[in-house]
Amino acid sequence: MNTLTRPDRRSHRTGRTRQSRATRLLTFGATAVAGLMISLSGASAHGPDPTLSGGPFGQNQALHFRWRAGSEPTTAIKTAINAAAAAANASRGSKAATFTYDAAGSNPIGYGTGATCGVNGLACFTRTVPTSFTMWLREQGHVFDWGTLKWCQAYTTPPSGCYDAETIALDEFGHIEVLDHHANYAGDSDYQDAVVQTFSRTKPAAGWNMHTFGRCDVATLQRQYDMQSWTAKYSTCLALTTVLTLTAAPTAVLFGAPTTLTATLTVANYASYLRLGGNPISGRVVALQRRAPGTTTWLSVGTMAVGSSAGTYVLSQGLTADAEYRAVFTSSTTEGLNGSTSPTIRVYVGGCIGAAARDVAITVPCI
Ligand SMILES: [Zn+2]
Repeated sequence: MNTLTRPDRRSHRTGRTRQSRATRLLTFGATAVAGLMISLSGASAHGPDPTLSGGPFGQNQALHFRWRAGSEPTTAIKTAINAAAAAANASRGSKAATFTYDAAGSNPIGYGTGATCGVNGLACFTRTVPTSFTMWLREQGHVFDWGTLKWCQAYTTPPSGCYDAETIALDEFGHIEVLDHHANYAGDSDYQDAVVQTFSRTKPAAGWNMHTFGRCDVATLQRQYDMQSWTAKYSTCLALTTVLTLTAAPTAVLFGAPTTLTATLTVANYASYLRLGGNPISGRVVALQRRAPGTTTWLSVGTMAVGSSAGTYVLSQGLTADAEYRAVFTSSTTEGLNGSTSPTIRVYVGGCIGAAARDVAITVPCI
């Protein structure tokens, strides 16, 4: 378990702050070009969200929160925070910690003038893994240097320029899990790949009311907390290398006798994949292909059936001549797994004499 005691703290800054920063960048002279290029290359580092220090909470750890005494949110803001907690739980796509309101919970969430956020923060948090967290939201009407905070939840008909408290609270819950702000492409074309963003958007800008974690939030939660099951989909913000192996049992058969081919599909066991490395991958489509030895054209045999252990796929074949086989897993656009092809294996036909010559096992005893 991680025993970090130093709380992390991140704050939201406003779109207006960002806009004025961008404007300043554009007004820089030629001497600022080098700095601008560094800024752009950093902004193009699209991928899974970076992480905060301190590491993740426990897998599926149940974190209970209460309203901070003396700083309770308004009814509308409470509803938004509870909805954000439910959204985090429902869209985490992983064994990330869960958030549940509990009057006796040990983690306070506050609202109002007591907020300890940075000067530009709409909301903020602390996290102390593995024991606790805190969260604050600023009060409706809080005056920043750019203007006055409007929570959309404070209105029957939310006006343009309001912040959605559920979206902001979901960002904070993402931080508490371990997520740092997503690095967007220059131009922010991928803004909606993450709800955990440095700059929150206001109504009606795209993404102002995201109520689920984005795919690049989920990607990091999967790496940090692992999958909920071996059949669950990997985030499309990932592009994980897969490994496919193939065995035959037996590897030599009598004329017309069957052999069973078993493929095993896993995530490559790279340290950089954190908890995902080496995972069995179940319930996908793995195809078996066959060719005559000495030829180059592969023929499709069919889709392999789901095997009895995680990540395995099986298909039996009756043989009248030696054959070579390989298994193929094709990547899809619906998840972040790269395709892979197994090494080629050969199955022999010919009984005891052939088996003895090749030192391979066959199904019947040789006498
Ligand atoms: Zn944030």
